[in-house]
Amino acid sequence: MSMESICIRRCNTIEEAEIVISWLEENGIDATVLDRNNPGPLAFGLTDREGYPVLVTQDANAKKATLLLEEHDKQKAAIKSEFREITCDKCGMQSQFDIARGAVQSCDNCGAFLDISE
Ligand SMILES: [Zn+2]
Repeated sequence: MSMESICIRRCNTIEEAEIVISWLEENGIDATVLDRNNPGPLAFGLTDREGYPVLVTQDANAKKATLLLEEHDKQKAAIKSEFREITCDKCGMQSQFDIARGAVQSCDNCGAFLDISE
C-alpha cells in the first residue's frame, strides 16, 4: 500500500472536514483530516495554506473520493434550493421560486405577495 497522501478537499472548518470524512467512510474510503498541530512528514506543503486538508492514501481512492464528494455536493445543493414554478394570481406571470427562501415571496413581475407553500 502506498503511503502517499493525496489532498482531495480543503475544508474551511474542522466540522466540515469531519462530515466529509464520515461520508467517505460510509462509502468504504478511509480518509483523514490533517492535524495542523502535528502534521508529520507526509503533510509537507499542505499546512502552509488556510483550511483543513482531507487526505486519502491511495490514488484510486482519491478518484473515487472526488466523485463521491461531487455527489455529496449535489445532494446538499438539492436540499438547499428546490425551485417551484408558481403562477401569480394578480398578473398571471409564471416565475420560479426557491422554496428554501420561505413560504411567502413576491412576484418578480408585479411584486404581489405569493404563497409558494403547497
Ligand atoms: Zn405578479
